[in-house]
Amino acid sequence: MLNAHTIDTLADFSRNDALAAGFSTAKVNQWQHLHDVYYGPAKANKQRAKALRRASEGRFSLDQLTLIENALKPVANPAARMRLRLRLLATAMNYKALRALIKQLVPKTTTAPKKGVRFTASRNRTRTMTVTADERDIADIEHLISRDIDPDRPASGQFLDNFLTTLRDGVGVPRAVPRPLLLIPLPDYTRIVAGDGDDITLGLTDGTTMTGAEYLTKHHADTIEVAAFHPQHGPVNLYRTERFANKKQRDLARAAMPICPVPGCRHGADSCEIHHITAWKFGGETNLDNLAPLCRYHNGTNDDDPTNPRRGRVENISGTPTWVSPRGYPAENTTHPYAPKRTLFARSAPAPAATVEPGHGAASL
Ligand SMILES: [Zn+2]
Repeated sequence: MLNAHTIDTLADFSRNDALAAGFSTAKVNQWQHLHDVYYGPAKANKQRAKALRRASEGRFSLDQLTLIENALKPVANPAARMRLRLRLLATAMNYKALRALIKQLVPKTTTAPKKGVRFTASRNRTRTMTVTADERDIADIEHLISRDIDPDRPASGQFLDNFLTTLRDGVGVPRAVPRPLLLIPLPDYTRIVAGDGDDITLGLTDGTTMTGAEYLTKHHADTIEVAAFHPQHGPVNLYRTERFANKKQRDLARAAMPICPVPGCRHGADSCEIHHITAWKFGGETNLDNLAPLCRYHNGTNDDDPTNPRRGRVENISGTPTWVSPRGYPAENTTHPYAPKRTLFARSAPAPAATVEPGHGAASL
C-alpha cells in the first residue's frame, strides 16, 4: 500500500536539507511554499490551524496540496484564499475528485494575452504578422477593412487587400464614436410623454424648470435617441410596409440584440445584416418584432423555411431574437455580456436604463 507523504512530513522542513538529499529545485520550491502556507507566520492563525488540521486528518498528499495552492494563486485576497482552501480540504478525496472540485469552486482567471505586434520568418515568400491590441482598436480596424467586401468571395483575402491599402494609402482608422441610446420601458415612456409619469424635474440656472423628457427632446435629440421597449414584444413597431428596414428600425433591432444571436458567434450587431425572422417571401413584415441582426455568415446558413430544419434558425422568443437548433431547442449566444432588454425588465420595478451604442463595432456597456 502506498503511503503518501502528508503535510505532517513538512513540519520541520529544511530547504537546504531537501536540496542536499537530491530533490529537484522545483519539488523543493513546492514544499517550501506548502511549509510557508501551513507552518509559516500567518495573520489568521486560527484559520491556518484549521487548514493544517484538515490537510493532516484528510491525509491529503503533498501533490494534492500543491494542486490546491497552484489553483489558489490567482486569488489575490488572503481571506478569500483561505476560505476556498478550507472548503477544498473539507473532505478527503482522490486527486481526480479534488481537481473537479477546484474547477467547480475556484473562479477561473483568464489572463489577457500580451499586447504587441509579432512577426514570423518567411515561408514560401509569405510572412505572418499578428497584432494583439485593445479590443476597441481591433474592432475599429475590423470594421474598416471589412467594409464593402464582396459576399460571394472569401472574406480573408479581401480583408488583406483592404488592410494593405489602408496602411499604404489610407487616411487612418477612424475611432468608433459612442452614441448614447436611452432605453425606456414602454409604460414609463408613455407616462413620461403624456406628462403624468414620475419624470424628474430639472432646475435651471435661469430660474425655470424643465422635465427630463423635455430636456432630452429639446437638447439631445441629435445625440441621444430614445427607444421605447415593450416588456413582451421588444422594441416598439414603427413601420409596417417597407421591404427594407429603415435606419431607426435597424438601430432598434441592434439595441434589442447587440450581437449575432447564434451561439458562439462573435459578430457585433453593428457589423450584422438585418434579417427578417419570418422571411419576406413567406409574408414576414418589416416590423421590429420580425427583425434580428445576423452576421453575413449566419444569415446565409439560417433556415429561412421553418418546415425544413437543417442548420437552425433565429426566432423571436419573448421579444428576443433567439437561435433555435434544428431539433427545436433554443440557445443563447453568451459571447456578449449585455442584453438590454433583460437589464430593463429583470427588475420588478423597471427603471430607465441607459446603454451606449458605439457608432460601429460591438455594442457594449
Ligand atoms: Zn453570426
